[in-house]
Amino acid sequence: MSTTYDYDLFVIGAGSGGVRASRIASGFGARVAVAEEYRVGGTCVIRGCVPKKLLVYASHFAEEFEDAAGFGWTVGERSFDWKKLISNKDHEIDRLNGIYIRNLDKAGVKIIQDRAVLKDAHTVHLVDGNRDVTADKILIATGGTPFMPNIPGIEHAISSNEAFHLEELPNRIAIVGGGYIAIEFAGIFNGLGARTHLLYRGPAFLRSFDHDLRSILAEEIGKKGVDLQLETDVARIDKHEDCLHLTLLDGSVLKVDAVMYATGRTPNTKGLGLEELGVELGANGQVVVDAWSKTNIDNIYAVGDVTDRAALTPVAIREGQAFAETVFNDNPIAVDHSLIPTAVFSQPEIGTVGLTEAQARKTHNAIDIYKTTFRPMKATLSGSEEKTFMKLVVDGETDKVLGVHLIGPSSGELIQMIGVALNMGATKAQFDQTIAVHPTSAEELVTLKEKWLAPAMAAE
Ligand code: FAD
Ligand code: NDP
Repeated sequence: MSTTYDYDLFVIGAGSGGVRASRIASGFGARVAVAEEYRVGGTCVIRGCVPKKLLVYASHFAEEFEDAAGFGWTVGERSFDWKKLISNKDHEIDRLNGIYIRNLDKAGVKIIQDRAVLKDAHTVHLVDGNRDVTADKILIATGGTPFMPNIPGIEHAISSNEAFHLEELPNRIAIVGGGYIAIEFAGIFNGLGARTHLLYRGPAFLRSFDHDLRSILAEEIGKKGVDLQLETDVARIDKHEDCLHLTLLDGSVLKVDAVMYATGRTPNTKGLGLEELGVELGANGQVVVDAWSKTNIDNIYAVGDVTDRAALTPVAIREGQAFAETVFNDNPIAVDHSLIPTAVFSQPEIGTVGLTEAQARKTHNAIDIYKTTFRPMKATLSGSEEKTFMKLVVDGETDKVLGVHLIGPSSGELIQMIGVALNMGATKAQFDQTIAVHPTSAEELVTLKEKWLAPAMAAE
């Protein structure tokens, strides 16, 4: 390792990607420092996946109390305490933050609580400390930040960052957007009892997902009480004494207590000194990297959301690990970004992996579709009208399963193992050979017999 510099590796950002890269590189004997300007753990732990999932759990209870009646339970008087939920959630996030700090310490990584910017290819400037640190290799792992469109009154809107810290549960909330965050938070606020409006600019939300998932989920969330308004947008936001007035594109006015924008995230590259250094940035401001996460500058690398490849925690972690193996263990690993299983913690939940039907029809000569929609067994007594949906996209020539798309309870859990099967190249015949687990919903996946004869398919 180098003795010319203060460190062998300087990591900017202690989120999912940066923490993994730091710990693994240190384990390989590198002298590592990581700078964090907010809280160690990054978006996922502090204001992303983890607090979000806790709020999702909280929001399921109202429906579960209803479901219990059909099974003979009488649930007494109930009330919901937002402040208690947020305080318990904050307590858990503090605990995880502590674990992340301890794990970095244990791995021998120096944590620097400061904003770091690049001064030259081997020098990082620490803003608050007003000092410079040098390193042989630099890893940019600065994540992303909510994008808020520039409309009049946008200063009255919140993003997911603030949603985790609202003083009160709003009585009425509008959520703008149609991606993961908008859909998940619509379920959270609706489940907790807020009158929830979901405003999306296009004809069908979750743009890159299979068309069946998109249309079925739209129907399901509507049944649960979310006011879904498609092909609309907010032209301006005006703050009135007791509420916000959202003027929509058609001139109508929606009165709410809060408006949350979930309109995507922008890679955190502004003011980092990257342009000055000549690090190549893409159209969305992302750091452009090769398959080994190296930028166009030889000793500067980037992983995670800041590279805008797939903005998911397990992907950032995998990229951080592969970077450390490649650079500090002489074991070059290029992360495979195909076949990433993913879940949307909507209500009902989505699990998806592989090609959508539309993508498969574009890339393959013959496609077989197997799909089923049913009311899960629990609904027979609970009376719930919620549908479960499962779809297999199969290569008609090789019988290989190209994509699996699910809506229903535990779809996120299920899709993890289906991802293993698809990564192993499983065929439909191998799905069918597998003995079912009964009685489950998942058994449908290995008992789908009838090919679905597609009418002309709607474009995705
Ligand atoms: P981050 O985790 O964002 O870490 C970057 C860190 O860098 C931050 O801590 C930041 O403060 C710090 N930083 C930035 N600039 C500087 C600087 N100049 N100096 C010092 N520090 C700096 N993904 C999933 O897989 N599943 C989910 O369920 C899920 N839910 C999500 C819910 C929400 C509301 C959000 C917003 C995201 C969610 N994600 C989810 C995405 C996931 O959080 C990100 O993909 C992941 O955190 C990316 O990790 P990262 O290391 O690239 O960046
Ligand atoms: P997404 O990119 O998923 O979705 C952004 C949404 O906002 C799209 O529907 C987009 O519409 C819409 N939009 C963009 N710009 C505007 C605008 N100017 N006006 C109105 N609407 C607009 O971003 P999210 O913010 O939802 O989430 C960021 C990323 O974080 C996700 O892509 C995902 O990778 C990750 N994440 C993962 C989760 C999980 O794994 N469960 C949960 C939460 C986040 P259009 O489609 O028409 O462009």
